[in-house]
Amino acid sequence: MNFDYDPENIFAKILNGDIPCEKVLESAHSLAFRDIRPQAPTHVLVIPKGPYMSADHFCQWASEAEIVDFMRTVGKICEAEGVEDGFRLIANARDHGVQEVPHFHVHILAGRPLGRMLD
Ligand code: 5GP
Repeated sequence: MNFDYDPENIFAKILNGDIPCEKVLESAHSLAFRDIRPQAPTHVLVIPKGPYMSADHFCQWASEAEIVDFMRTVGKICEAEGVEDGFRLIANARDHGVQEVPHFHVHILAGRPLGRMLD
């Protein structure tokens, strides 16, 4: 892996138990918890347990087991949270993507009309 992961980032601290979180689901390779500043009635963050900084790193360097586990976790949360009316997945990356926490995560947003993002 050719990137410089910061082991002191907030999500690393959540993973090692130094910072509490409202856990939604935990699996072998992934953890899901509620965003501390929710932007919608459902706002869950899904992170891999491995040290990946952003989606491109995860997709390039994670094992197939980690990737499948991550996507299944997203699917289980969508089912559990009831997203029949629609939802949005967001993965911000680095400066232009306005990524605040440098540990790969996907936002699951649902529970209200989310508006158009792209024109
Ligand atoms: P980003 O901009 O990196 O895609 O989003 C990071 C998200 O992490 C933000 O929505 C922010 O509210 C959330 N966040 C930041 N610190 C914490 C924390 O300590 N606990 C939880 N649960 N969420 C956090």
